[in-house]
Amino acid sequence: MNSETSQIYQLALAGVQALIPYQPGKPMGELERELGLSRIVKLASNENPKGPSGKVLSAVREVLTEASRYPDGNGFSLKTALAKKLAVATAQITLGNGSNDVLEIIARTFLSEQCEVIFSEYAFAVYPIVTQAVGAQAVISKASAGGEYPCYGHDLSAMLRLVNNKTKVVFIANPNNPTGTFLTTSQLYGFLTELPEHVICVLDEAYFEYVSPDERSDSIAWLTLFPNLIITRTFSKAYGLAGMRIGYSVSSAEIADLLNRVRQPFNTNLMALSAAEVSLADSEYLNETIALNQQGMVQLTNAFTALGLSWIPSKGNFITVNLGRSAMTIYEDLLKAGVIVRPIANYGLPNFLRISIGTESENTFFIDALINVLD
Ligand SMILES: *Cc1c(COP(=O)(O)O)cnc(C)c1O
Repeated sequence: MNSETSQIYQLALAGVQALIPYQPGKPMGELERELGLSRIVKLASNENPKGPSGKVLSAVREVLTEASRYPDGNGFSLKTALAKKLAVATAQITLGNGSNDVLEIIARTFLSEQCEVIFSEYAFAVYPIVTQAVGAQAVISKASAGGEYPCYGHDLSAMLRLVNNKTKVVFIANPNNPTGTFLTTSQLYGFLTELPEHVICVLDEAYFEYVSPDERSDSIAWLTLFPNLIITRTFSKAYGLAGMRIGYSVSSAEIADLLNRVRQPFNTNLMALSAAEVSLADSEYLNETIALNQQGMVQLTNAFTALGLSWIPSKGNFITVNLGRSAMTIYEDLLKAGVIVRPIANYGLPNFLRISIGTESENTFFIDALINVLD
């Protein structure tokens, strides 16, 4: 029936047959049903622990009266707001049902079975999915062996060495998930100047807002220099709208035109469009989010230090901790205590757990559970 050797499986593209399905963080409701616990803390999907802003909730309620109509397929109002904020033309923006949707649109726009796609070891799990789903060949670059974050970050020189005339797309996450590793402006800029123009560089900045302004790259400004650059960002993380599903890319108008041809006409929904536009103007929510994340990062790293655990320094809203042994039983014991975190053995990091930064109280609940579990 479900045997991978059955004839139906053989009908799929070879790349799809080889794919391991994306494993989302365990939903809170599922754990609640299984264990009947009174408190469950989910620190597994890099969601915003603040919950949605009140402004977003009332805006979404208001647009519900229009739910019988299709949404604006061009996302005019949101694109106008984004264009103003980012100082680009609306024609450079492509909206997606989450930025993952944009990643998939990019793959369907540029890739065929003859193409190679480069991304790093320990890079975001969606890159192999969108690559192999269209039959293209994933080429994985070893993580960096030196620098500030030895062994876990993207090795841009190694990635450049893998480029050949079949290479069509390079995916770079900055900061990267699940490692939280970060590439500096000079590293990225140097890479882009050396990348041949026939290769599309997708710079995935899902965690952009969490990087301090003095460390962030002004990547949008690079679009005028590199016509092969696509920057993706999302409302799922710092803007607190993961459940709404909305993200976007900024690129040259030519690339946006191509992506727009492949995009489903109504890929972003009524509520998400309105929520995103409202959240973009809500600087108070964003500032509180960033402050909360900084405090939580200190709280967790202090606890790890006290427990003698090391971690990968992270610029995102999560931290990946090294337990020095298989993390699976620790993950399961934490579940029993009502804490959902993310095992990342599927990324090739079996001794690590990725912890999303929560509220102070959620972090404390996790730390107490971890202390008990490690005892
Ligand atoms: C969370 C995340 C995204 C965002 O996904 P959405 O589809 O926008 O929710 C994109 N890239 C990376 C690396 C991520 O971790």
